[in-house]
Amino acid sequence: MKKIKANLIYNPTSGQVWNTFKPELVKKYLESKGWKLDISKTECQGDGIRLAKDSLMKKYDVVVVAGGDGTINEVVQGLAGSNIALGILPVGTTNVMARDLKIPLNFQEALRVLVEGETIDIDLGIINKKYFVMMVGIGFDAKLVNEVDSNLKKFTGPVAFVATSPVSMVSHKQAKMSIILWDKNGKKKKIKRDSYQVLISNAPTYAISLQVSLDAKFDDGLLDVDIFKSQKLHEFAWKLISIAFISKKSDSNMTETFQCKKMTIKTEPPMPIQVDGDSYGMTPALIEVKAKYLKIIKPKE
Ligand SMILES: [Mg+2]
Repeated sequence: MKKIKANLIYNPTSGQVWNTFKPELVKKYLESKGWKLDISKTECQGDGIRLAKDSLMKKYDVVVVAGGDGTINEVVQGLAGSNIALGILPVGTTNVMARDLKIPLNFQEALRVLVEGETIDIDLGIINKKYFVMMVGIGFDAKLVNEVDSNLKKFTGPVAFVATSPVSMVSHKQAKMSIILWDKNGKKKKIKRDSYQVLISNAPTYAISLQVSLDAKFDDGLLDVDIFKSQKLHEFAWKLISIAFISKKSDSNMTETFQCKKMTIKTEPPMPIQVDGDSYGMTPALIEVKAKYLKIIKPKE
């Protein structure tokens, strides 16, 4: 049988979760299973993309990424649309993507999934030329992401978000939003609303939800769009925070929900955007789904 040729891309600065993580251990384990593993490490922002693109040139079968959601997102930018399967060793602080895919947060078990799991094709979203796996937030949540100092985020996780939010709440205003959606049949719909926040999700969970249901809409070729209804700011803010930290439950009192293949959004004034938990500029934006655009190794059902 042909050996599986894999490249491990790891971020040495994440990894407070596993003191046990060592790239040599990954190599030893995978090579005992008949793989051939090379190891590369990220040294600065953008390295994940560079190393993933490099892996395309070198025709690996699998890229294993050991890092948090930020590192995974970078590697995805390089692998999107390719035949290389992505394996995940969740070594980050939040690991939303790993949770969504039911990848174990335990090192030994996650390693075993690489060998014993199955490879599936999932959809990717793309916003202004950047791919996303989970979701895009426009408005209040993106503002929080901007304001949370990255060191604070690293050491205190979700607490930092909550601690920062009262400050942001006071200064956050609704924007006039003009949204155009194209639904699954390509039918166009124009929507104008005043709102604090829009969420666009590829995956079914949001932020660090622990109640994961994998009735995964990861591969339906559609994005779910939640526009928050106009209401008092403090009510909106606490609802968003409870969604973020408890679970994503659609609530028709709070949000209007649509599904689309493609959308454009303009806001007045411009609003900040977060992509899979990292800041990414301001509106306007063009957002589309790319159906079955990334191969991922996940546990067998
Ligand atoms: Mg979907």
